[in-house]
Amino acid sequence: MIACRLPSTLARAWTEQIPLEPAVVRLEDDGDEFHLFHGRVRYGASSRKWRATLVRRLLTDHDSFPGAREITGPADARALVDEVATNASILARALDALYGTPDLGNVTDPVSELVYIVLCWRTRIPTGRTMLDDLRSAFPRWEDLVRPEARQRLEEVLRPGGFLTNKSTTIVGIIAKLIADFGAADLSPLRGRSDEDVLAYLTSLPGLDLKGAQCVMLYALGRRVFPVDAHTITVLSRLGTLAPLVGELVGLEHRVVQRRLKDAVAPRLRGPLHVNLVVHGREVCKATRPECERCELRKLCAFWRARQQEAASEQPSKPVLVDLFAGAGGLSTGFLAQGYRVALAVDSDRSACRTLKLNHPEVPADKIVCADVDSLTRKRGELRRLVGRGVRVDVLAAGLPCQGFSKVGYRTKPHILSRPTLTNDPRNRLFKALLRAVAQLTPEAVLVENVPDMRSAGEGKTNILRRLERGLTDLGYSVQSFGLNAARLGLPQVRHRLFVVALRGSRTALDAREWLLQQHGVDQPLDLTSAIEGLPHLKADEGAMLQAVELAGKKRLLFHHEARAHNPLDLKLFSLLRPGENSLVALERGGKTLMRYSTDNFHDKYFRLKPGEPCRTIVSHLHKDANGFIHPYEDRGITAREAARVQGFLDDYIFLGSRCDQFIQIGNAVPPLVGRCFAAFFDHARRTRPGKRQRGNHR
Ligand code: SF4
Repeated sequence: MIACRLPSTLARAWTEQIPLEPAVVRLEDDGDEFHLFHGRVRYGASSRKWRATLVRRLLTDHDSFPGAREITGPADARALVDEVATNASILARALDALYGTPDLGNVTDPVSELVYIVLCWRTRIPTGRTMLDDLRSAFPRWEDLVRPEARQRLEEVLRPGGFLTNKSTTIVGIIAKLIADFGAADLSPLRGRSDEDVLAYLTSLPGLDLKGAQCVMLYALGRRVFPVDAHTITVLSRLGTLAPLVGELVGLEHRVVQRRLKDAVAPRLRGPLHVNLVVHGREVCKATRPECERCELRKLCAFWRARQQEAASEQPSKPVLVDLFAGAGGLSTGFLAQGYRVALAVDSDRSACRTLKLNHPEVPADKIVCADVDSLTRKRGELRRLVGRGVRVDVLAAGLPCQGFSKVGYRTKPHILSRPTLTNDPRNRLFKALLRAVAQLTPEAVLVENVPDMRSAGEGKTNILRRLERGLTDLGYSVQSFGLNAARLGLPQVRHRLFVVALRGSRTALDAREWLLQQHGVDQPLDLTSAIEGLPHLKADEGAMLQAVELAGKKRLLFHHEARAHNPLDLKLFSLLRPGENSLVALERGGKTLMRYSTDNFHDKYFRLKPGEPCRTIVSHLHKDANGFIHPYEDRGITAREAARVQGFLDDYIFLGSRCDQFIQIGNAVPPLVGRCFAAFFDHARRTRPGKRQRGNHR
């Protein structure tokens, strides 16, 4: 038995939601909408100005923005700024959720902040804060520090932080210059001046560097600047978030990096991003040894992604999967977990391809192709070129689109006159594309997943399943088709699907269904409660697309746990239902006036899920409403994260696109668990093949 169950321990460990702590600088809402999942950007007033200036500079200032050298015109420049702004916003939100933009001890009085910056040189924050407080008690007026007799007391206070001479000389020098320039230790004369003037003045103070000056501006003068210290540079270089603009930062002089980064981030993000990058650098992304395995930003990090890619390329002899109609990558995820390599994944849905790319850095980006499988297989040699010449394909998998076959679709709705029919829906002819792909790639095995209704699609010779089976047989495969409920493999969901398994040559003795149930069947499938355990409780319209939750004392990012809003009638109906009850029960309980649908067609339009059983089948039309998927205990539909859990996706699987796209991707996915079980079956088939060939990557 392989370990391919849902990690219920993980589910159990996800506990309460952590509220964000109050912080000195906050991630403010300026009306910007940097959509985490849509890739769509709308700027608020302050960011619009920043964007316009940056777009102009990208076209001319190639020293500061070497990443933008290839830009040919304003449209390109705008697209690049939008892409980077969105990614920076995602990063800022993720960091803010994880760390809550903590107080780093900075103070709001400008002169005290100046002194604090100097006190913190090579000194821990608590020590710096204690020294500042002691200094304030010893010298209620900063002007007193410049008196010669103050020096001894000053050094006494500064002793715990070390670097006595350097720090005391700098502090006295700064106070003396302020007195000389403004008649007192006071920075209020700078308040009305431009950022450039203030920065120029502060960096003219003895011993104050650019980053120190920017910290004073950020924390004490309320300016939206981006202080850059060693942590910021290390973390940003590794993440690569701003690289498309500012290029590679490694090996550059500190001042050059500071200049490049100064304007590369939208003003509203600068403060919180600075604070949280410092914290992330100190706690996780350490200079010499980044702790990537416990880093919540892994999937957003170029450094980690490159390492995954490298590790994958070092194992070329793995069995090879080609995944057609790959969707968000559920099936690929299962095969990858079983040790396969994905040589090509194709889907025509752009959001689904983005999802697959984001979650699987080990699959080279050029091997995830957004294209129409039908056209692809019609172009001579194209599929083979994409897979790689000479690459032997072990399994060709295809989750053929099922909407044309499914009886919950138009097949049962003859009143929809414009509906496609079984024969004129082009999706129902895609099995021919699959047969072309099999002929072109000659894989060792073929796996097709579809809804059981595919069996009854078409009569006699026109029956689609029969035609597919016949086509595979003619190509030299032994074919078996069977129905299987994924709950029997341990999925917390009743998911009946039809599978077609074809093995090259005649090996009819190997019964895939029997083997799967024997090797991976469970007596007791997981129930819905175990699947969604530990996720934060929500009311309707609560939650967030991105938040942090606590797992065993550690904060983790959680995506897609956002309950949709329901209208008051629906909420009332929900409250009338106990687990396992549907619309009819609601009507009996006096819900007649609340029902908006005819019960002839929609008796189970409302359904409260049962907690102690596998969930009902997760479907893609969950994106329309979730009334048929009411949470077992809470008056709301299940969230996309809960649906993903039921489908067996781990919590770090992120779905891109609108919420509608996310539900479609989740509902259409082949559960990774199912993929993994089938991958294990194909391993077995390969091992037991009569006269098996030695494995190798090339023919
Ligand atoms: S994944 Fe590693 S390198 Fe990337 S930010 Fe996290 S700790 Fe740093």
